Amino acid sequence: MAVRLHYLPGCCANCDSPEVTVKAPLYCSPQCRQSAELVRYVRACRRDGRDQLPDVDEAIRMRMAMVLGGGYAERERRVSPEVRDEVFRRARGHCEECGRAMDFEGTTGNPDAIPTIQHVHGDSNDLSDLKAFCRRCNMADAQSRLVPVEQGTPEATLAAGLRTRWTASEPLRLCDDDRQWNAIGRELTRSAREAIKISEDLDEAAADEDLPGFQGWTEQGTPIQEF
Ligand SMILES: [Zn+2]
Ligand SMILES: [Zn+2]
Repeated sequence: MAVRLHYLPGCCANCDSPEVTVKAPLYCSPQCRQSAELVRYVRACRRDGRDQLPDVDEAIRMRMAMVLGGGYAERERRVSPEVRDEVFRRARGHCEECGRAMDFEGTTGNPDAIPTIQHVHGDSNDLSDLKAFCRRCNMADAQSRLVPVEQGTPEATLAAGLRTRWTASEPLRLCDDDRQWNAIGRELTRSAREAIKISEDLDEAAADEDLPGFQGWTEQGTPIQEF
């Protein structure tokens, strides 16, 4: 596979950090994965003009805020379909904040009525800590907790970097390429895992140098020891 864009297998696709694992080989953190997802999303929206729609613009700002806040704890906040159903059943299909009937089938064309699950206490997924919120109330709650980004802070640098990436006429990193990334994901995951395994083997070999009497390496790569 010819990789013409910036991507080092075995390093984070978003920031080049080598802190990736065989289990999660493409990104070093949820923040990095969400950064790259956001860049791809905005690039796709800008291409077809969706970024001009108010609800898309709002979603982009909110995702940006989450990335700048350190990323969204997706794994911790993932609610099982059973618990989700239970929350919506308890709410009788209405928003537990404003009372609006929610649009479960997507038939009204009103993005404000999209049902969401609101976490009331941090990442807790207990039924009592979850509420059925319409998208409008969910957004309003999130927006009420936003703080402005101050100039000269790491967040401002991060925000500027993301904007540069999504406004670039050609993708600057391979993970910014919304048209290519998903299609080559399997191949990327495989090559990243291979690269991580090779670097782990090298680490193990380096650790061998601590062996007592270590004298160097044979041509086959095994340590020479003298006692
Ligand atoms: Zn990273
Ligand atoms: Zn509501």
